[in-house]
Amino acid sequence: MKLNFKIHRGTKEIGGSCVEVWTENSRILVDFGMPLVDSDGKDFDFNKYINLTSDELVALGVLPDIEGLYNGKGNMIDGVIISHAHQDHYGFINHIDKKVRFYSGKASHEIIGINNLIYSMWEGYLQKPHTKQFIDSLTSRGFTMQNIHTSGHADTQTLKLMVEAMKPQTIVPIHTFGAGLYKSIFSSPVIELNDGEVMSL
Ligand SMILES: [Zn+2]
Repeated sequence: MKLNFKIHRGTKEIGGSCVEVWTENSRILVDFGMPLVDSDGKDFDFNKYINLTSDELVALGVLPDIEGLYNGKGNMIDGVIISHAHQDHYGFINHIDKKVRFYSGKASHEIIGINNLIYSMWEGYLQKPHTKQFIDSLTSRGFTMQNIHTSGHADTQTLKLMVEAMKPQTIVPIHTFGAGLYKSIFSSPVIELNDGEVMSL
């Protein structure tokens, strides 16, 4: 049976992580994050899009065009797996049809599900104006924020260790601004995809 996947966002950027994986029998998503950068490369300003519908955001290319995810039309997706509770991996889940099932680790589920904001991303993002606006908009609505950092993005040394341990037949860069550098860093074959391109195994 063939396993197919499509990186909807992330082949050339960090943020807005979303990968669709399917076989002939089932189809799931891994992550549904909010972008960190806009199409012009500037910081993603969620205020520009906060009042738009899912269909409008798909038309603008902010949300990926995925059948049966937003409004129950067409073939419903079988489930969404959230890898970890960072905004760039789950920040758009409010757009997903309520009938779609979510799967995550227990801690991620608790962080996403509670009313207070646990900020677990890199502290440097807090200095960016749009992140600050996002945090301010929540705290002005009565949210309290706790800053508990958990690592989400691996550095080159860590990626090298993982490749040494896993000995992959192929590496597909994702969630990186440096996809073009992978061939010079790793000895395993690298396949560089574009957003929306299908790869089958
Ligand atoms: Zn991330």
